[in-house]
Amino acid sequence: MQTGLYEPVIGLEIHIQSKTLSKMFCGCDARYFQSDPNTHTCPVCLGLPGALPVPNKAAINYCVKLAIALNCKINENTKFDRKNYFYPDLPKGFQISQYDSPIGHTGNMEIPSPSGNKTVRITRVHQEEDTGKSIHENGETYLDYNKSGVPLIEVVTEPDFNNKEDVTTFAKRLRQIVRYLDISNADMEKGEMRFELNISVKSSSTKELPNYKVEVKNIGSISVLEKVIELEIERQSEILESGQTPIQETRGLIDMSGKTASQRTKEAEAGYRYFPEPDIPLIELNKAYVERIKAEIIELPNEKLARYINKLNIDRDIAENIISDPETYQAFEQAISKIDNTIVPLFAKWYAVEYFSLDQAQKHNDFKLEWLTEIIKKVEQREITRTSGKEVLLASFTTGVMPDKIIEEKGLRVISDSNELESEAQRVLEGNPKAVSDYQKNPNVLMFLVGQVMKAMGGKADVKIVTEIVKSKLKSNG
Ligand SMILES: [Zn+2]
Repeated sequence: MQTGLYEPVIGLEIHIQSKTLSKMFCGCDARYFQSDPNTHTCPVCLGLPGALPVPNKAAINYCVKLAIALNCKINENTKFDRKNYFYPDLPKGFQISQYDSPIGHTGNMEIPSPSGNKTVRITRVHQEEDTGKSIHENGETYLDYNKSGVPLIEVVTEPDFNNKEDVTTFAKRLRQIVRYLDISNADMEKGEMRFELNISVKSSSTKELPNYKVEVKNIGSISVLEKVIELEIERQSEILESGQTPIQETRGLIDMSGKTASQRTKEAEAGYRYFPEPDIPLIELNKAYVERIKAEIIELPNEKLARYINKLNIDRDIAENIISDPETYQAFEQAISKIDNTIVPLFAKWYAVEYFSLDQAQKHNDFKLEWLTEIIKKVEQREITRTSGKEVLLASFTTGVMPDKIIEEKGLRVISDSNELESEAQRVLEGNPKAVSDYQKNPNVLMFLVGQVMKAMGGKADVKIVTEIVKSKLKSNG
């Protein structure tokens, strides 16, 4: 297939489970992971007749917080609606969701993109409840309602993506935001963050949006999301290529390779017969309340990234690594609060490269991240070599012994005593007469001889001084 002829038009719907203690409309414990089936249930989340839902205030606070973080307008009067459809794991026969007055709407999020920053428009952020779970085993279907009624935030974007890279960048950034706000762990392996993809393909030469869209539901990881996009672009482009239009439908994942199969042709909104939930009154989110929630929002990933790059002079890639999750940036910020600003960019580099590569399970309780500063300073002042620096870091990290002590014990201090280096260089030159005589024709010999001296000194000599000494000796020999 030719590439470049067609391009995708992609929108996302993301479901995020809030980490509240109780469920959305009842007092059941929402932390059901690995619990026995149907042990976190009550008449409300089992959908028994006569049971009345009571909205969870903490869940609404979380949803408002995310909507504000995504620059949404907040509906001063919000309400819940019933979305009617039949599904075995939906015991009421409807899901309590939000239809025409979602908590937040008309927002946006900026993502870095190869062609500069890109703004993705957010259509809406609303609150709903999760469904139960069907388990198909040995030809039987079992139902577990532990997940039924767990608070779920839905974020819907406009179809603003035209490549899979932007989609994954967005998904990762959104996961970061949710973790920064501490409203969900967004652990995809536990199903706490799920994606729904709306994708169609159009000729690259037209600006007009396609007149169909294909929906792929329940994608549980970013890598599968990426694969589904690749395969859908290919599948839909082939249909267009043959002169037909792909049909509007919902497709489901078959396996983790990203392959999908048709499930049903897409319901129109009318199919859900939305109507206001009569058992829950209107909810007022007044300005004072919104301001109060807003004041709780800490520095978010994009702002943090900009500050790291512009104020702290940290390289972009390094900064991206450090801001990736709260635990990582918190440890970093705590450590740099005690060190001199001028060393921060170097500290960041060592932290993101050398420190990240250590096996965190081996970390000794007494190890302090600030010690890294001592190691960096010693490397910079050429008291120890870079290689020794890494060795000291590893030893400090696993034993909890201070860097200085390790440098002493292992005798890692760089030898810059020129007498000692002179005599070693002399020995090396005498042992390599052929190389010495080749020096006039082949200047590369210098590096070879310097290497030999460094090796003889166990890598602990100051390479600049050694180079000077060897160079002057070769000159006086010639
Ligand atoms: Zn319940």
